[in-house]
Amino acid sequence: MSNSIRVRFAPSPTGPLHMGGVRTALYNYLFAKKAGGTFVLRIEDTDQTRYVANAEKYIMDSLKWCGISPDESPENPGTFGPYRQSERKAMYMKYALELIEKRWAYYAFDSAESIAEKRNAAEKTGQTFQYDATSRKQMKNSESLPTDEVEKLKSEGNWVIRFKMPDDVTVKFQDLIRGEVQFESKLLDDKVLIKADGMPTYHLANIVDDHLMDISHVIRGEEWLPSAPLHHLLYQAFGWTAPKFAHLPLILKPTGNGKLSKRDGQKGGFPVFPLAYQDEKTGETLNGYRENGYLPEAFLNMLLMLGWNPGTEQELFGLEEAVQAFSLKRVVKSGARFNPEKAAWFNEQHLRGTSRNALAEALLPGIELKGYKADIAKAKEMVNMLLDRVQFLHEMIDASYLFQAPTEFDAKTKKKKWKEHTSEIITGLWNSLSEIPDWTAENIETTFKGYMEEKELGFGQILPGFRLLLTGLGGGPSVFEIAAFIGKEETETRINNGLEIAKEWVECM
Ligand code: GLU
Repeated sequence: MSNSIRVRFAPSPTGPLHMGGVRTALYNYLFAKKAGGTFVLRIEDTDQTRYVANAEKYIMDSLKWCGISPDESPENPGTFGPYRQSERKAMYMKYALELIEKRWAYYAFDSAESIAEKRNAAEKTGQTFQYDATSRKQMKNSESLPTDEVEKLKSEGNWVIRFKMPDDVTVKFQDLIRGEVQFESKLLDDKVLIKADGMPTYHLANIVDDHLMDISHVIRGEEWLPSAPLHHLLYQAFGWTAPKFAHLPLILKPTGNGKLSKRDGQKGGFPVFPLAYQDEKTGETLNGYRENGYLPEAFLNMLLMLGWNPGTEQELFGLEEAVQAFSLKRVVKSGARFNPEKAAWFNEQHLRGTSRNALAEALLPGIELKGYKADIAKAKEMVNMLLDRVQFLHEMIDASYLFQAPTEFDAKTKKKKWKEHTSEIITGLWNSLSEIPDWTAENIETTFKGYMEEKELGFGQILPGFRLLLTGLGGGPSVFEIAAFIGKEETETRINNGLEIAKEWVECM
């Protein structure tokens, strides 16, 4: 059921969607769903110079993978379309002209060079140039030139439309996260609304579209807060009611100051993008959460907690539960620090919370990809054996000893645990084990222990050696389960081959 709550996620397709963008989408989604409202995706592609062809698809794919698909989007339009600003181009000019009519905007004819000159001249005297009420009259525009010249310049076609920023207003508004926010308009400049190519800038298109799409709440990143006073003045200039605003805190890098960036991910070896992305220009592949083995629900849970808390100790949330718990009131103002270890922890928790059957199903393609063979029963055995020991599903497949005999043997275990009599002990052990008719982990364990008792052996004298021959490792899950998993024949082969190799170990001692 939909109501008057309508929110939008409005990314610009200038590259892959950063995890901060996914968090913005998530908070919009949660806010809409909790209120029974509508979550809109609008593609803000008016800046043709920064347009990246595959970025829109990347955004859609990322939202799909996360399971937070929009109710209205370019792919799934509602009644407020089109949902791509490039397809709405024709409608913006009318609104810019309305602002000229109302004397809230004007034509400007300054060349880029003449503005650069002003800037340089100001810099020489230690000042900064700003196109605003103080400089407007010295510039080339419909505020400073006589009408006939304005008409002539307009007909030559090289003009932009600028917003006429007042110089004496205090712009005050309530931010749902920050409370009252205020800006002095004299510090703001006359932003371009329509560019020389006839395209609107972000500011104009964003306000017009939020209005036409009936957006009730704008929930977006803190980096847009400095644009908010202009946006409020635009609403005022049009005589429209502004939506409510909520500016989300920055996501900070794991250590030090500043916003989490692509570079931090490359340096720290963790992903900052939901899906892997190949940069068309540089050919570089950026790491993705999906490709790093994250469950989408774990990724979302981690993002949920980056800037919001439920006011209790609870940290683990499924998407439905998050919808119920979420409120903008509990979004924090200050930056939220990203912690890659905590991200892995969320994955571990969600992995444990997922049904074992589902995990086994999910394991199969990865096993196949490695060229190993396994059926669902084997995959289930793997899950039962390894679930408590991994943070990521692929770590189970990385346990290569489950599928092939070890070729390397842990040096420390060889040195410390492989003694003169170990070979003899293990040969005796195999004599007992080989008698087992029904090769299960339980039976292997019982026979193993029976043999230990009979020979009066301690675990340390037999278990590490047995594990070393089967897996090549000094530690891991239950060796009885491993033996059961690889099968009786393979256990025998590994013991025999291992004992051959082990002859050298004792000689070296
Ligand atoms: N297109 C802007 C962006 O790329 C949207 C900002 C907003 O939500 O107003 O983030």
